[in-house]
Amino acid sequence: MDKKILKTQAYTTAVVFVVLAGLLWGGKALYDANLKERALERHTQLLRTARTQLQEHLLKAVQDAHQLALLDSVRDFVATPSAVNRARMERTLIDTSDVYGRYDQIRFIDLQGHERVRINHAPGASHAVPEEALQDKSGRYYVQEGLNLEVGQVYLSPLDLNVEQGKIETPHKPVLRLVRMIGDGEGGPAGLLVLNYLAGGLLNQYRAHFPAVDRAMLLNSEGYWLLNHRRENEWSWMLGQPGRTLSAWQPRLWERLQAEPTGQLELNDDLFSFTRFDIANFRNGLFHGDYAINRGLINDTYAAEWTMLVQTEKAQWQAGALYLKNWFKAFLAGLFAMAGVLVHFIITSREERRAARAAQRQQLADFKDLYENAPIGYVTVAADGLITNVNRALLDYLGYERDDIVDRLRISDLMDEESRETIHALMGSLASGQQQQHRADLVCRNGERLTVLCSVSSRLSPFSTLMVGRCSVQDISEQARLERSLEDLAYRDALTGLANRRYFDELASNEVKRLQREGNPLTALALDIDHFKAVNDRYGHDAGDEVLKELAKTCQHLLRGTDILARFGGEEFVVLLPNADLAQGHRRAEALRQALAEKPVTLTSGEAIHYTVSIGVATHPRPEQDRLPLLLKNADEALYRAKRSGRNRVCVALPASLPQQGSASANTA
Ligand code: GH3
Ligand code: MG
Ligand code: MG
Repeated sequence: MDKKILKTQAYTTAVVFVVLAGLLWGGKALYDANLKERALERHTQLLRTARTQLQEHLLKAVQDAHQLALLDSVRDFVATPSAVNRARMERTLIDTSDVYGRYDQIRFIDLQGHERVRINHAPGASHAVPEEALQDKSGRYYVQEGLNLEVGQVYLSPLDLNVEQGKIETPHKPVLRLVRMIGDGEGGPAGLLVLNYLAGGLLNQYRAHFPAVDRAMLLNSEGYWLLNHRRENEWSWMLGQPGRTLSAWQPRLWERLQAEPTGQLELNDDLFSFTRFDIANFRNGLFHGDYAINRGLINDTYAAEWTMLVQTEKAQWQAGALYLKNWFKAFLAGLFAMAGVLVHFIITSREERRAARAAQRQQLADFKDLYENAPIGYVTVAADGLITNVNRALLDYLGYERDDIVDRLRISDLMDEESRETIHALMGSLASGQQQQHRADLVCRNGERLTVLCSVSSRLSPFSTLMVGRCSVQDISEQARLERSLEDLAYRDALTGLANRRYFDELASNEVKRLQREGNPLTALALDIDHFKAVNDRYGHDAGDEVLKELAKTCQHLLRGTDILARFGGEEFVVLLPNADLAQGHRRAEALRQALAEKPVTLTSGEAIHYTVSIGVATHPRPEQDRLPLLLKNADEALYRAKRSGRNRVCVALPASLPQQGSASANTA
């Protein structure tokens, strides 16, 4: 294959591949957009239900705080802190701790910040801390926050890890403190009920709420992780790693998160959705929370905000995508291979067609060149004889331009009138589909005749009608001229141009046939120059030739077109006068003799040669072929007599030599 085709193929294949890849890339982008949209919709749904769950848990704890604060045993101890009341209250709170199992400590702290009752939780073995072991908690932030509450209000502390004796308890125990201001029965504050809520269950449930493909996170208002798929990120501010924050990990995400309460974004192909919410705002979404608050059964609750965050990595939202499947990759490879093969076939066949067309054009050009510039004339003729094409050579022969002829003239218009038979034969061979040659005389623009040889062939329709006639025209005028001169050599006397003896016989024979049919007479004259030898002797042989030529001319001039004049040799001539009887023949012979005698030949030297002739006349009233020699012999005899009787005279044949003739006469000039 040639280099150009290879190049075209490589280029086209590259373009097709790029377009194909572009389309596929576009398709993948749409597909990915759809996958992301689905993942983000899932995020929204998960965050909504997770938030509801979190608040359900916290609402229960708040309700517990209210419930415990309203218990008689608690109110009695607050009013009268006797040993009996203490024992009743401790009993009730131990039961509560055991039954619920979600409060690590349940305490009553007085308005000075001292623990007055404290129940420590242990699975199945909750117990009251002895009075002497109770501590002063006035410095703790939740106590200070609690002392600011009005009676009936609840404060929810931030979530952190439980600290015992100044040390973080292990295994880690996430704790959230609920502080409720208890009243003294007369509207005044009496002390704080503090519940240490064990948040491990809440966090575990939150974690379990999200499917494995999504990473659930929970952040406090400072951007620290309360919950993270990587445990080392959790509680970092408490565990001596204060740098591990969301703002350090994803600053842009942190920015968004602070600017908007809820949002979704894509960072480095990972998808993030977040919702910031007030954990103790139970008004919205939770029916029973709403109900209790609206009816004043419980008061507003104060707490910090948390942020729920979910992340789906690219590998996860793409998981199961069509384009990651092996069969689809194989299909794409097949698609590209097929496109390549297709391009190959299209280009190859196109190039082949192009090459074929070029070859065809070359062929046509060659053919046109051959037609146009052939050293022989060509003419193409339609069925009606009109010329539809003609080549240069023929135009040159004729002296015409193409526009003078094509679609204007018929082939017959180019021939002279005498070639009618030829035209007939030409059209006949064209119509019959035969290949034939015909000689014709063409008429050139300047009126000259051109002898040509026309070779014709034709294309016939399936119904044998002529569709196109082709005619090659060969100029044979030179050959025709040669032929004519050869003919002249054979039939004419070279000196005078008159018919020779042989031609005379032919012409005479034809004339006799005609006269025979018509029944008309034929007269013959035998003519001989007198003392011609003397002319030669005196003036020279050339002058003698001049006399012979002049004689021939004068005779031709005097004779009629139908008369036949021939030179029989030397200075002897014969004339046949068709339709002339003896008397007419005699008269005309006499006229000839007289004219010649009176017309001397003037030589270039100025000399005039006077000469005379003797003529013998013989007639056949009913000429016959066989008797032509006899007619000539009789005329010759009459000539002989003319010579003997003094020359320069006309003698007619004696009646004896012409049996059918009755009399004869001899005249002298
Ligand atoms: P007569 O009156 O008896 O016919 O006498 P004549 O001299 O004409 O006859 P003769 O037959 O004795 O001579 C004929 C001469 O014609 C002889 C020859 O030299 C001459 N002659 C024949 N052919 C030619 C020719 O072609 N050219 C010339 N110049 N002379 C010719
Ligand atoms: Mg003679
Ligand atoms: Mg003579």
